Amino acid sequence: AAKRAGRAAVKVFDERMRARALERMQLQTALHRAIPRGELRVHYQPLVDLASGQVRAVEALVRWAHPDGQLLGPGAFLPAAEEAGLLADLDAWVLAEACRQAAAWGRDLGDAGPAVWVNVSGRLLADSRLVDVVARTLEGSGLAPDRLGLELTEGVLMRDIPTTAEALERLRALGVRLVVDDFGTGYSSLAYLRRFPVDAVKVDRSFVVGLDTDPDNQAIVRAVADLAAALGLEAVVEGLETASELQAVADLDFRIGQGYFLGRPVPPERVLVAITGGVDLRREEIVLP
Ligand code: C2E
Ligand code: MG
Ligand code: MG
Ligand code: MG
Repeated sequence: AAKRAGRAAVKVFDERMRARALERMQLQTALHRAIPRGELRVHYQPLVDLASGQVRAVEALVRWAHPDGQLLGPGAFLPAAEEAGLLADLDAWVLAEACRQAAAWGRDLGDAGPAVWVNVSGRLLADSRLVDVVARTLEGSGLAPDRLGLELTEGVLMRDIPTTAEALERLRALGVRLVVDDFGTGYSSLAYLRRFPVDAVKVDRSFVVGLDTDPDNQAIVRAVADLAAALGLEAVVEGLETASELQAVADLDFRIGQGYFLGRPVPPERVLVAITGGVDLRREEIVLP
């Protein structure tokens, strides 16, 4: 009986595995079509100057308007895109779309037009054509290089240090700004902050949770602000969800903040509203995780 039960369990397990594999294949097939069919979207989340309250830049965050009607967030499809070998193409598409959009804002708003910060995966960074892709994208869009920021995580930066350093030097020479994303969560050798020509560090959201009451997070965030100041880097903080978290970073040396409390990611047509003011962006977006 035990043997039979065992066999039945294996069968159920098998079927579940097969169903999951099939689901993943269907997702990958649908993703392959997503770019040519124009199903990808870019939403933009404000990066706010904490002293003036002005929107300094926006972060480009990819979404997928899935044919079944749902708007999916990156957590739902980036792993499948990576598995399908589509991540570099997806990043390049987001980069081009974000640059095109930021250039259009610049034409409408002049100096008040926001810079745009784009996330770069290890796949795209490892692509030897990255610098050319960025240079051509800037040229094609007419966006000034200093209006583009590239967000790289520590994990992405540490994959191949000599190659990364060279690519970053060339991007820096173009005039693009370089930002370390999710700072403090990756491989934490601080030496790379000297080795790589980065302009800003964005403290990870996990250190901001309960910042008003959690003494450990307070100590970490304060130390990052001091480190950034000492190295001449701009300090950015993400994941501000409450007034008291905002208050807690206001006294530290952070120039720029980001988080649901300051503004959620929104479709491009809402960004003008964020900049010209008047509407509460804290309750805008509903995305499936
Ligand atoms: P990230 O670059 O660290 O972006 C911040 C994420 O945190 C975004 O989630 C944003 O919506 C969310 N967020 C912002 N403020 C708050 C807050 O106050 N509270 C909470 N709980 N969350 C907040 P999203 O859009 O789901 O993106 C998740 C991650 O997916 C991003 O993390 C980034 O690593 C990646 N990603 C997004 N777009 C792209 C892309 O075009 N290319 C690549 N390679 N990765 C992307
Ligand atoms: Mg980011
Ligand atoms: Mg981040
Ligand atoms: Mg993060």
